[in-house]
Amino acid sequence: MLRRVYLDNSATTQCDPLVIEAMMPYLTDKFGNASSIHQFGQETRSAVDRARHQVAAALNARPNEIIFTSGGTESNNLAIRGLIENVLTKDPERPPHIITSTIEHPAVKEVCSDLEAKETQVTYLPVSENGLVSVEAVADAVRENTALISIMAANNEIGTLQAVPEIGRLVKQIRSQGRKIWFHTDAVQAFGKVPIDVEEIGCDLLSISAHKIHAPKGIGALYVRRGVRLHPQNIGGRQQRGVRAGTEPVALIVSIGKAAELAMEKLHEMDQRIRQLRDRMEDQILENINGAVLNGERTYRLPNISNISFRGVEGEALLINLDMNGIAVSTGAACSSGSLEPSPVIRALGRDDELARGAIRFSLGRFNEETDVDKLLEILPKAVSNLRELSVRA
Ligand SMILES: *Cc1c(COP(=O)(O)O)cnc(C)c1O
Repeated sequence: MLRRVYLDNSATTQCDPLVIEAMMPYLTDKFGNASSIHQFGQETRSAVDRARHQVAAALNARPNEIIFTSGGTESNNLAIRGLIENVLTKDPERPPHIITSTIEHPAVKEVCSDLEAKETQVTYLPVSENGLVSVEAVADAVRENTALISIMAANNEIGTLQAVPEIGRLVKQIRSQGRKIWFHTDAVQAFGKVPIDVEEIGCDLLSISAHKIHAPKGIGALYVRRGVRLHPQNIGGRQQRGVRAGTEPVALIVSIGKAAELAMEKLHEMDQRIRQLRDRMEDQILENINGAVLNGERTYRLPNISNISFRGVEGEALLINLDMNGIAVSTGAACSSGSLEPSPVIRALGRDDELARGAIRFSLGRFNEETDVDKLLEILPKAVSNLRELSVRA
């Protein structure tokens, strides 16, 4: 049987068996509503509290600064809309201003453009050819009415790490002048791959998602610094201090707690074994395949992602070809696949059309082995040359 190789861990990950084991009792006999007074409720309440501690510990936050959501998308929506709507109601005369970048995940970018169609101003900062946002450019973009800066910690297509602690310091400095300004960072890709410390970053809001760290889909969290007010987006209950109403999905909450704890234990492995595996894969591809070009920063980036363009090859065609050989990769973000346009992230790096269309993201996870990379390195050169031959003949 064909052994399948999964190199699309930035799209989603396989659940860790320990995560499944931890959540199982809450799918079976421990089914109480965490808001109920009786013992069934007490039991699940303490499980929710424990998970809140686990997530908080992984971020160096306090447990009461963690709001559970349905995932990264909801965390970003709650952070940005929740903050802006809160500012709006306070001062309807003055439109708030948001600073973000051109390479944010759609769950940030599209929330910003939706608000822009209402009473909000938005600045989308361009990035360097390596995918870096300039902190000076952020500082220059700050206006008297800037309410929010939302810059991702790590990009989901190229893995580039932004200088978020420097942006955090900038925000603190502006705030010390008595201005009302907040900082949100989408850390969905960064969390579990590199250390994330909300104090070191100096952010007010930070989004994470469980299914990117070996837990199920449908659960995420938003860190909300103590004292930061958000206009609730889900109303109709007093759960989670009314910021996010709705009966807590206990089993899923347990899963993100366990996954966060495991991710912290495995950070070293990510930084060593996975990084080395990624580097070997990348070096071999760049060395052995003509017209292969790395996209994004080489230094300031996640240890598990490599995004490479192949000249004269359609990324989509290569993806399908690799899939027929049992290897799963991606042409960019899973959420924008199906669109025939080349990735807006690769575009934002200033890549020409050919390179933008030929981009492939290889993303590793802790369940990948040396043999996975060996298999890719065996199949990929043939796949690329076959496709190039076809396009010459056509
Ligand atoms: C996956 C992802 C999201 C969305 O998270 P979901 O849990 O799938 O909603 C947001 N931002 C980034 C950077 C991501 O990679």
